Amino acid sequence: MNESVPYQGRFAPSPTGPLHFGSLLAACASYLQARRAAGRWLLRIEDIDPPRSQAGASEEIIKALEIYGFQWDGDVIYQSTATERHHSALRQLALDGHTYACSCSRRDLANAPRGPQGTIYPGTCRSGTSGTEYAVRVRTHDEAICFDDLLQGQHCERLQTESGDFVVLRRDGLIAYHLAAVVDDAEQGITEVVRGIDLLDSTARHIHLQKLLKLPTPEYLHIPVVIGPDGQKLSKLTGARALPVDDPRATLLHAFAALRLPVAPDLGSSTIDDIWQWAVANWDVTELQGQKEISGYPGSMAAP
Ligand code: GLU
Repeated sequence: MNESVPYQGRFAPSPTGPLHFGSLLAACASYLQARRAAGRWLLRIEDIDPPRSQAGASEEIIKALEIYGFQWDGDVIYQSTATERHHSALRQLALDGHTYACSCSRRDLANAPRGPQGTIYPGTCRSGTSGTEYAVRVRTHDEAICFDDLLQGQHCERLQTESGDFVVLRRDGLIAYHLAAVVDDAEQGITEVVRGIDLLDSTARHIHLQKLLKLPTPEYLHIPVVIGPDGQKLSKLTGARALPVDDPRATLLHAFAALRLPVAPDLGSSTIDDIWQWAVANWDVTELQGQKEISGYPGSMAAP
């Protein structure tokens, strides 16, 4: 990390539902990294996908974070207020010849090759399309894009063969997550991105966009995914329960234990502020080095 630039981290939940234990771990890890570095920690609500958003989820997420004792710096940032900035980046990519319109439907791509990240776009519209409804894709290349994840080690991807040219403006006119995240991380001066390992495979795409838009690349740290009681990865899709808000201290201590903090039983009687102070003083992210999965989902949160 460039020591002369002050640490700036963020937690960037999408309001597609309430926070669950897995998202709490991502929030805790990014918060602890920022506080441990005496840096700033921003809260960015990624509300640019109305079809996937759930009414009231942003407020619910903010409320839960407050109850769990998180203190963000500055105001909550709503990504939906920055769509002009996202479109300006999109125009820049187009002006520089990095994008093209793509009218391929899901059905058109049904026979395209598939990789670990889904359909590998075969470049069908690279040299033109006649459709009237279209998405905008960014051109990729086949040189390896490599980065050193602070927990997961070196990760390399050849975008053209492993995921193909990817969408930056969706067919429904919405800016795609990858572009918005990259533009906002740069705008907000994020020096280290801490998030769940499910986004490890998106990072090469993010670095590709940063290069094309001449934006800095932050450090990346992807934390392991939580394995639920059924042995499945915990996610909103697998029905993870909303964080309980009646006794946040117990769940917070479960989260700290899952993050390999040396939690002692008597901590449970401390105030939430004291618990956080203890956690910042004892946080050592290297305890999670190379780990891809975390068990330790609290039984108290298992589905009834
Ligand atoms: N908004 C994304 C999510 O809730 C996280 C994005 C990121 O941290 O880059 O999964």
